[in-house]
Amino acid sequence: VNLEGITPEEQQELERSVIMTSFEQVKAWARSNSLWPLTFGLACCAIEMMDAGAAHFDLDRFGSGVFRASPRQADVMMVAGTVTKKMAPLVRRLYDQMPEPKWVIAIGVCATAGGPYINSYSVVKGVDKIVPVDVYIPGCPPNPAAIIYGLNKLQEKIRYEAKTGKKVLVDNE
Ligand code: SF4
Repeated sequence: VNLEGITPEEQQELERSVIMTSFEQVKAWARSNSLWPLTFGLACCAIEMMDAGAAHFDLDRFGSGVFRASPRQADVMMVAGTVTKKMAPLVRRLYDQMPEPKWVIAIGVCATAGGPYINSYSVVKGVDKIVPVDVYIPGCPPNPAAIIYGLNKLQEKIRYEAKTGKKVLVDNE
């Protein structure tokens, strides 16, 4: 980059934006390595989510083992299981109660698109009809390694977005 001939104001603005960009990246690095999931088991996929957090797979290796029972203490909603229409308003309310910045992972085909209940009158055809989803993890159910991989993708997404300023959607296939 040729910086010759720039005005002092431009120089000042350049220095400020370089520092701000670095600071955003540091924040994203810290956030992505300390995600606190909202405990959110809705059906069978929740067993795999619990397994991902247990000793063998140890989700805590990635700073995400602190499952919270309160949305106010969580920044990632891991929707594990079938979202019924009766449950949908509560999912939205919990999401709204989470502080910014926040993210959502849809675990399994039920949370992604309705799964085996796609033709049921009582099931929502994907939790993204209610809340914005950042990462989709396929499977019925996905195994704990796939869930951890999905979380790693969310970490990458957080860091990438802070670096580039672009929004990305992760389809974990
Ligand atoms: Fe159960 Fe399969 Fe639905 Fe997961 S995707 S909640 S394992 S039916």
